[in-house]
Amino acid sequence: MKRNTFIKLLGLGALGAGMSSLSSLKRFSDNLPNADRMPVLFLGHGSPMNAIEENQFVKGFRDVAKTLPRPNAILCVSAHWFTRGTKVTAMEMPRTIHDFGGFPQELFNVQYPAPGSPDLADETKALLDPVLVELDEKWGLDHGAWSVIKHLYPDADVPVIQLSIDYTKPASWHFELAKQLNSLRDKGVLIIGSGNIIHNLRMVDFANFNKVDYGYDWAVEAHTTFNKHLLDGNYQPLLKYKDLGKAIQLAVPTPDHYLPLIYSLGLQQKGEELSLFNDKLLAGSLSMTSVKIS
Ligand code: ZN
Repeated sequence: MKRNTFIKLLGLGALGAGMSSLSSLKRFSDNLPNADRMPVLFLGHGSPMNAIEENQFVKGFRDVAKTLPRPNAILCVSAHWFTRGTKVTAMEMPRTIHDFGGFPQELFNVQYPAPGSPDLADETKALLDPVLVELDEKWGLDHGAWSVIKHLYPDADVPVIQLSIDYTKPASWHFELAKQLNSLRDKGVLIIGSGNIIHNLRMVDFANFNKVDYGYDWAVEAHTTFNKHLLDGNYQPLLKYKDLGKAIQLAVPTPDHYLPLIYSLGLQQKGEELSLFNDKLLAGSLSMTSVKIS
């Protein structure tokens, strides 16, 4: 059989795309070093300035990285890629996206040139079947991903892909979807949710933007409620967070920064422990609380 016919039979499209399509038949996991099972993280990313500032939170990111086996790749679910339907970045070299305004030029100058992994994108798409996942060539790494991953792996030498969050779906759907990614952990893939559990930007006290351990009464209450449910291991109330009262509604006015946490929780397996770090309120209406599951 001619190669051209073979490719057509596989439904892989035009010959011009043949080489990359053929290489994508190779599974991400075909050529991996033996990998330890990877923990799962949820990182409270906070301000984009954390990408270039030195503070207790970025130290917390660096410290947690030291506790992890070296990953073969990273799959990041960022609050800042909120789409209709589910997409996964599939390009060889994702661009660094500066998806914010009003920050110093120094922040816009940051590049995080980690490679992508088209093979891991293909494998992720296959694992999430029957949910239709679009292989995306346009996005890249948004600041929800690079502003924190650069502290974990400053040399940008671990491939990174992003998985988008389908904004048409409820928390329980995302919790179940995450479970389908579980086998990636055994292939050395570090899965990171990046958002903020308490994230009410409209109410941020910008005069006290760097004030740590500072939360409005409702934020203090929401923080206590969230941590109780996180630490007791029953996540059902967290999936129905809209029913948890006024404080939680103020803490999660929109789901974008909350749902990355739900992906991380969905990946917890029986017998695994959840621990908190960077567990601080900030600027009145934000929390930096981060999670490690291992
Ligand atoms: Zn954000």
